[in-house]
Amino acid sequence: MNLLEGLEKCGRLLFDLCFPRICAVCGVPLNFHEQHFCLECFADLPLTYFWNMEETPAERVFWGRCPVERVHSLFYYTDNYRKAVHHIKYGGNIPLGLYLGRMLGERVTQYPNVAQIDYIVPVPLHWGKKLKRGYNQAEIIAKGIQKGMQDSLPDNTSRSPEVLPTLLRRKSYTTTQTAKDRISRWQNVKNAFEINSASKVRPPEGSHILVCDDVLTTGATLEACASILVEQLGCRVSIATLAYVE
Ligand SMILES: [Zn+2]
Repeated sequence: MNLLEGLEKCGRLLFDLCFPRICAVCGVPLNFHEQHFCLECFADLPLTYFWNMEETPAERVFWGRCPVERVHSLFYYTDNYRKAVHHIKYGGNIPLGLYLGRMLGERVTQYPNVAQIDYIVPVPLHWGKKLKRGYNQAEIIAKGIQKGMQDSLPDNTSRSPEVLPTLLRRKSYTTTQTAKDRISRWQNVKNAFEINSASKVRPPEGSHILVCDDVLTTGATLEACASILVEQLGCRVSIATLAYVE
């Protein structure tokens, strides 16, 4: 270990002492080399392994609803692992969103039959909600996915996708989704989005767009976004979410 590495390690140890980092799942203090999860919780992360499948259960959610090509999800939204999503969505844990987004992005490129992705479009928050929260969690995840894809794409053979955080716009300030049933969720979101005329980039017809969000539950929000991109821009759409509800 050289002097610089030693100083960096001392600095990090001192930082951990002043601001203890804890596991996003079980809450135990993290060791020096652990990132966001303790070793046990990281080892038990309920990965979907969708990237090993020709066709995934998450893709069946959209059958007969919207022409979605592939659906990518990193882990099952289960037990205490829900807390990780809550830390990103409500707790301001942006580094965790980038970290898990990157893990997902690395796997997106491993899916069988996955076509080149040209753009990543996060599900938008209403501007009022974004102002209140300070950030859009889907946009953080999109940036993580982009980084993960950049790192895993073979050099010079593929173009890394561009994140377009303002291509879609949420028109109405929809109330929280959690307490609504399937039908009222759909009615609530089906007309909530539009193409933002102020967006600087408009993907050309035939572009492949990856729409991303934190969790895939009924798919109503993602379907509403995907439908607009397919019907109004003539784009092809795939979906990526950190978590998937079985
Ligand atoms: Zn833990």
